[in-house]
Amino acid sequence: MFMIIAISATLVGCASATSSGNIQVDSQIEANVPTEERSETETQLTAEVSDGELQVEPTPCSATLTPSNPEGPFYSPGAPERISLIESGMAGTPVLLVGRVMTTNCDPLPGALLDFWQTDVYGEYDNEGFELRGMLFADENGNYQLETILPGLYPGRPAHIHVKVTPTGRAEHTTQIYFPGSQFGDADDFVDSALIAALEEATGGNFIATFNFVMSP
Ligand code: FE
Repeated sequence: MFMIIAISATLVGCASATSSGNIQVDSQIEANVPTEERSETETQLTAEVSDGELQVEPTPCSATLTPSNPEGPFYSPGAPERISLIESGMAGTPVLLVGRVMTTNCDPLPGALLDFWQTDVYGEYDNEGFELRGMLFADENGNYQLETILPGLYPGRPAHIHVKVTPTGRAEHTTQIYFPGSQFGDADDFVDSALIAALEEATGGNFIATFNFVMSP
């Protein structure tokens, strides 16, 4: 069962969390922009999640295993469990990352643990706390969704989101998710076509990225 996912953005100046469960976050669209060129533009993300019609179509099953990728030096264990990494006042372009954890036979891996970490819009990791770090569990059909921002660039790497995926009763699998397009930086030796998310613009200039984790049966 999928949920409706609607994202819209308007030019406003305040931030709030509503009692209806909507999430409204101010953020500046400044991804990959040098400090001296950053603008004062602000945007508001409103994400609504409720039972109902499918808006985000699941991507098809795949026989291609999700390759592993290096953990890198910036993993911090113990990130909080949450479905949104966006915090009030956080700069960046909102993106809803959605997908499934499944096998090459298209069988879901329900309850898989997903542990994400990434840079902020300026390409910096929070190595003191847990900003832009969080864990969540796939649902009974292997579906997951995470609200976050498009990661910034740091020297020598294309934009990426790190993730450890641990299906129930299976070994941890560490990899990275990349994004299509030169604005996300030049590919390096770690980029594999099977690790590039499908990225589409959603209502209001925000984005939806789709990425499935495909494991052996
Ligand atoms: Fe990294």
